[in-house]
Amino acid sequence: MRVFSSNKELLKSINNHGLIGIVPTMGSLHDGHLSLVRRALNNNDQVIVSIYVNPTQFNNKEDLKAYPRNIDKDLEKLRDFKDLIVYTPSDNDVYSKMTSKDYDFDELDKVMEGKYRPDHFNGVATIVEKIFKMFKPNNAYFGEKDFQQLSIIKTMVKKLGIKVNVISCETIREADGLAMSSRNEHMTKGERLIAGKINKFLIKAKEIYKNKKIDKIPVSMIDEINNLKNCKLEYFEIDNLSKYSSSLIDEGDRIFIACWVGKTRIIDNIKLK
Ligand code: AMP
Repeated sequence: MRVFSSNKELLKSINNHGLIGIVPTMGSLHDGHLSLVRRALNNNDQVIVSIYVNPTQFNNKEDLKAYPRNIDKDLEKLRDFKDLIVYTPSDNDVYSKMTSKDYDFDELDKVMEGKYRPDHFNGVATIVEKIFKMFKPNNAYFGEKDFQQLSIIKTMVKKLGIKVNVISCETIREADGLAMSSRNEHMTKGERLIAGKINKFLIKAKEIYKNKKIDKIPVSMIDEINNLKNCKLEYFEIDNLSKYSSSLIDEGDRIFIACWVGKTRIIDNIKLK
């Protein structure tokens, strides 16, 4: 493993032959991130993992301050991957001015995450576009846990004509079904037990959808979640993101959920067919 905090130094160490894969992350790595790294290593000659908590994608300053940062532990987890290149930039290495670009994502940045986290996707796309332009990867790996984010990146790449394959990777879960997330470490034991139920609601909703062909989540299920201790639902809906972006292929309906468990925000989704 080689670690660089300067993109210029990193570029000097890259071999220009063969495939380059990239895995952008905000660190506090867990097995979900590591599954992306493994996939990238299996399919590329050189793999870059970026670890950077990107300020422009946080619409809330307190959230940015509280976001977990564990760089030493992260490097420890990556140490055993042979030939990995890790990019850990400072703000100055990526931003000359700490602002995000204003993208046209059609309506995709207006719904769900976009509605609850205004400007979030402009920030995400800004850092990912910068990273794509710095390292010109052939393949870039993103998790389906953040399915709307993955769709935003696919939309950005198509609209800007960036030559990179955006590869979607399945969600890695804890034993009780909770989607792994760096934010999960903030939860108390009680909250963690409640959070384990979120994925079960998605599975239950999928069963109801299959049997009754519903196109909306039943109100009784929404009430059930809101009645859980410390739990506040933001959205729980059946949708198809290709509806909102002319750049996306129709991959079928999904059920999406976002809710707060105490002070931790959880998002998850499930494919319907
Ligand atoms: P983050 O560090 O949260 O920005 O995530 C970096 C990348 O890892 C994103 O593409 C995420 O979608 C992906 N990711 C995060 N959690 C998981 C998970 N549980 N399973 C698979 N991919 C994940």
